[in-house]
Order: sequence, then structure tokens, then C-alpha cells
Amino acid sequence: MPRRRDSPPPQPAHPPTVTRRVLRLLAAQHPDAGTELTFRNAYELLTATILSAQCTDERVNQVTPSLFERYPTPAALAKATPEEIEPQIRPTGFFRTKSRSLVGMARTLVGHHGGEVPADLDALVRLPGVGRKTANVVLGHALGVPGLPVDRHVLRVANRLGIARSADPVVVERQLGAALPKPRWTLASDTLILHGRRICKPRPLCDRCGARKMCLYFADGGGTAPARGAGRSRRPTSSRKTAVP
Ligand code: SF4
Repeated sequence: MPRRRDSPPPQPAHPPTVTRRVLRLLAAQHPDAGTELTFRNAYELLTATILSAQCTDERVNQVTPSLFERYPTPAALAKATPEEIEPQIRPTGFFRTKSRSLVGMARTLVGHHGGEVPADLDALVRLPGVGRKTANVVLGHALGVPGLPVDRHVLRVANRLGIARSADPVVVERQLGAALPKPRWTLASDTLILHGRRICKPRPLCDRCGARKMCLYFADGGGTAPARGAGRSRRPTSSRKTAVP
């Protein structure tokens, strides 16, 4: 239902102090959090992140070494045609769309940014194939600019925990960003993504979760803690929850 124009924007259930504590606990549980894409510079990470849409990082890492050998710079990639690239990136899926995005991205970098990847969110999201999530990945991991990528894992985990409240990634990015110091944005995103992949899956493994004592979903009986004798997961029932995947 649309929000009334005069109603206040939704707020996370937890205050920033709890959000920071939750992230510290999850960071301790996942000390290896970080992007799993292999890259040597911003151009390579941008390319790899575009390829990672609807594809595993592992598969992208199998494809990119030969791609980067053949097209080591935006200038080299800009001279290619999508048809030339398609066979090389085919294993990542959606290869026709991705090949057009890659060539368009490279040509825009050459034509408008001197062949460099801009360290600016607004400029990045204007590149073909680059959305806000991809832009934040590149900013945070390759350009030294705080970025807080919100993917489906961050969306699900943050809402369950109560450290965000919205099904809109931009709103969740804003809520988490307001609660966390900028230097911690990228690691926070990496940590939530890893927690979503390993523990807080669509069917969560709450008995293994380091933050369950502060989790709304768990408190409302949505988890699988043996102590509750549930042994099963349920959909959120509380009105405090926001429906996310
Ligand atoms: S307690 Fe369960 S639902 Fe809550 S964050 Fe942990 S795994 Fe996810």
C-alpha cells in the first residue's frame, strides 16, 4: 500500500548503536568477508561485476582471466564488438546483454572519462550495464570510496535483523549508511552478503547465527533455533517485518 504523503519514512527497528553491534558480531563470525571476484584494478572489477549478474563469482573468475588478457584496458575493449566478446563470456549467462553492456561501458569510459573508471557514483550509474549496486561494489573495493552495495542478501538479512526496514535497496542503503561510519560501509555489505549466503538463507540457520539475540525475525519465532523446539522456518508474521526475498 502506498505510504501517505504526510507519514514519516519507515525507520529500522534498531537504533544505530545496535546496528553497529550487530555488524561487529557478524564480522567476527565472517572474518573472511570481501568480494570473491578476482581483479587487479577498477576496470577489471567493473567488468567482473557486470558479468556477475545472475551468475556465481566462481564462474565469473573462470571467464575473466582470458578476457582481461585479450582486453587489458577499456581502450582495448572499446575496439571490440559485442559479437566478438559473446563466446568468451557465454558461460556467465545473458551473454548478449552483457557483451553489449561491456562494450558500451568501455566506449563510454574512453569517450567521456579518459579511459579511466570514475570514482563517482553518479558517473558510474550512467555507464551501460551499471546499476547502483555495481557502482558501490567498484567504489568500495577498487577506488577507495565508501560504498554500500545492497543486494538481495543484504535486503533480506538487514530486514530480518531489524537494522533496516524497507524492500527498496536504495532506502536500505540509506538506513544502513546512516547507522554506520563510512569507512565501515563496504565491509558491512560484504559481511551481510556472506551471512545471507551461509547462514541467513531464505530458510535461515538461526542456531548458527552470531546475532540471533538481536534479531527481530528470530525473536518473533521465525527462526529454527532448537531451544524453541521449532526445527523449521516460518514466514515473518509480525507487522514490524517488511516482505523481502
Ligand atoms: S537469527 Fe536467523 S533470521 Fe536472524 S539474522 Fe540470524 S540467521 Fe537470519
